[in-house]
Amino acid sequence: TMSGMQASPMNLASILEHAARFHGDQEIVSRLASGEIHRYTYREALRRSKQLANALHAYGIQVGDRIATMAWNGHRHFESWYGIAGQGAICHTVNPRLFPAQIRFILNHAGDRIVFVDPAFVVLLEEIQDELPTVELFVFLTDKAQCPETTLKNAIDYESFIEGQSENYDWLELDEDSPSSLCYTSGTTGDPKGVLYSHRSNLLMAYACCSADAFKLSAMSSVLMVVPMFHANSWGLVYSAPMTGAKLVLPGPHLDGANIYDLVNTEHVTFSAAVPTVWSMLLDYMTSNNLQVPALEEVVIGGSALPRSMLVRFKRDFGVDVLQAWGMTEISPLGSLNRPMPATLKLDADAQLKIALKQGRPMFGLQMCIKNKEGQELPFDGKTPGRLMVRGPWVVSSYFKSDSVILDSLGWFDTGDIATIDPHGFMQITDRAKDIIKSGGEWISSVDLENAAMNHPKVALAAVIGVSHPKWEERPLLLVKLKPEADLGDVELKEFLSTEVAKWWIPEDIKFVQEIPLTATGKINKVSLRNEYIADYEA
Ligand code: ADP
Repeated sequence: TMSGMQASPMNLASILEHAARFHGDQEIVSRLASGEIHRYTYREALRRSKQLANALHAYGIQVGDRIATMAWNGHRHFESWYGIAGQGAICHTVNPRLFPAQIRFILNHAGDRIVFVDPAFVVLLEEIQDELPTVELFVFLTDKAQCPETTLKNAIDYESFIEGQSENYDWLELDEDSPSSLCYTSGTTGDPKGVLYSHRSNLLMAYACCSADAFKLSAMSSVLMVVPMFHANSWGLVYSAPMTGAKLVLPGPHLDGANIYDLVNTEHVTFSAAVPTVWSMLLDYMTSNNLQVPALEEVVIGGSALPRSMLVRFKRDFGVDVLQAWGMTEISPLGSLNRPMPATLKLDADAQLKIALKQGRPMFGLQMCIKNKEGQELPFDGKTPGRLMVRGPWVVSSYFKSDSVILDSLGWFDTGDIATIDPHGFMQITDRAKDIIKSGGEWISSVDLENAAMNHPKVALAAVIGVSHPKWEERPLLLVKLKPEADLGDVELKEFLSTEVAKWWIPEDIKFVQEIPLTATGKINKVSLRNEYIADYEA
């Protein structure tokens, strides 16, 4: 090296190595599909990840080969991330809630050789197995006794796969830029696109995540990782939790209020991260059963905007701080997190609440700015919306197997989100570029309007799409799902909205619906809503 310091290429496996050596007795607790609880330690997780690395090596997996996982958060999934990447292969997390055709596309595009799969998703794979030419082997993430009957041609259970393998393995000396993992965006527009992460990009992001203005993790933390490992890398927690020696709690497929509550309480969870849908279920469960969560200090909410009522309920009724985070698959995924700073704590309660509902400030390592259509940077005035652009070591530079240019001439990646940044540096998403409604030349934020509707106590979920209008080009159409047994008319809802948003934002049309379709990552599926409703408004 040019300096007098060690080059020490970053290998993700060194994280688990550290956890096992210095926090060897720390627990990893998993709820299995059966509902049973499995407990072991970082020490045992490391041993088994090495057995897996040896098994993969013996099978003939080479550096750079892709191995898919289709699984909930559990101990076998956890150790396989390390066993796969540590021996130079690429761990490709597949979202099992995608449509079979999308899963087939993704597995083929990646060219996966092995698929690690939870028994729950075996049937899905059986249907498409004849259309997966690169897949040679299916490894069921269970033991021999629980192994389901299957028509999959080459299948084995995980325990048999690693059985008899040595617990010694020297992790490869990889260049730190070597690929470690692969994740596809859910492809709400066009085919899914793959983001190929490196050991270096993941490790740097994980470092940033531990810090006190981000997740604030330490050996004292008990982390309930609700956000699935197939959803944008479970926001880096698979790496940042063991980096600090935190206890790790993995909920498996059971994300309902009762099961999440039970884990929070019995495992003394201090910190957790999930999308808003999961937190709604927990809040409702706790409210209707009159329960409290004394150990729980903070929850992170990301993936879609944090509703005001959720922030208020967590704090007022349960004493839990809510931190909003923003990120995306293309940025590994963490971009910003919302924690106060001295200047914002001096503001009055109302102003503080307004700031707490923003998406937050970027962590060091991620550069952020907003630009107009011409590519000029816009001011941090908290008012001017622009295209949110990011740059840095954990931001994508090109999609997997694609040569399209996705950065501007200065290396900035366009997130597709529209945002403002205020003088304190707090970023606020006002919309996704493709969802914003352009009415009479002015912008209406579909997100703000949805949040306004969701502030009504009888509304369970609200979605807004733009529909054509002869005079205003576009107007918002509001779709509302009410809470069970709630009764609400559109006159009353419009009256409520007039206290929340500008008059001209209030939609002429409100439709009350039974269900609002969600995407595989639990977000409102606007593509499907558009398919269903916009034709009614076309001239
Ligand atoms: P997709 O949903 O397209 O599959 P991701 O899961 O990577 O992809 O989601 C990234 C997008 O989710 C962001 O670009 C942003 O639009 C949205 N998002 C993430 N976090 C938040 C948040 N806290 N508030 C509002 N939107 C968010």
